[in-house]
Amino acid sequence: MIVQMETATAARAASGQIATDNALLARLDAEDREALERAGKRVRLTQGQILFEPDDQITAVFFPLSGAMSLVVVMGDGSAVEALMVGREGATDTLSYAIPHRAAARCVVQLPGEALRVDAARLRELARTRPGVQAVMELHAGRASLDLQQNAACNAVHRLEPRLAKWLLNSHDRAGTEILPLTQEFLGEMLGAQRTTVTAVASALQKSGAIGYKRGRITVLSRPALERASCECYAAAQKRTKAALRPV
Ligand SMILES: [Zn+2]
Repeated sequence: MIVQMETATAARAASGQIATDNALLARLDAEDREALERAGKRVRLTQGQILFEPDDQITAVFFPLSGAMSLVVVMGDGSAVEALMVGREGATDTLSYAIPHRAAARCVVQLPGEALRVDAARLRELARTRPGVQAVMELHAGRASLDLQQNAACNAVHRLEPRLAKWLLNSHDRAGTEILPLTQEFLGEMLGAQRTTVTAVASALQKSGAIGYKRGRITVLSRPALERASCECYAAAQKRTKAALRPV
């Protein structure tokens, strides 16, 4: 199955139809999509790669074609927590299409993959001249803003175990494989928790049969078990994404 998916992706890449792998780009009409593809460059992203740091001027917007990235807010004492996960449903920035700005968060690649990298100034020019591009970026900004609201509440009031289950479901959705190459140190940074606390919570999920964990690799064994363990925020975000990306 995975081999077939990879073959299909390679075939699309060879024919130049790469952007349909990203849900935002797939919503554009053919002419707008081709304009964005011509303006951008397909790049490979490695796990742990940092695309920008807080206060960096955003010079490029990445539209993931596979893998996943996290926008992580870093505090003065070095502690960090993920504000938003970005995969094939979105893009790494919500504002550059309209105005130049600096990053509020660190953008780190959590699952390796490929993306269409578009220069931010070029994206603004396209959004100004192509109403279809502007409409899709507005849709993305609106949906990301709703997800950020949900995540702010989730990070503040939900316990670590349901948040970890939610986070693993989100990663699994974007990974396209059962095995997630994630260390508990990395998970701690995503969830704003100590590594030892993450270890205890991950072992509870392991005992319930939801996941397996071995040497930095988490295997999703039962999605239903993971969904039962998750807080309500996963289902809420899924519902919004489906509604927002419904074909018009
Ligand atoms: Zn939650």
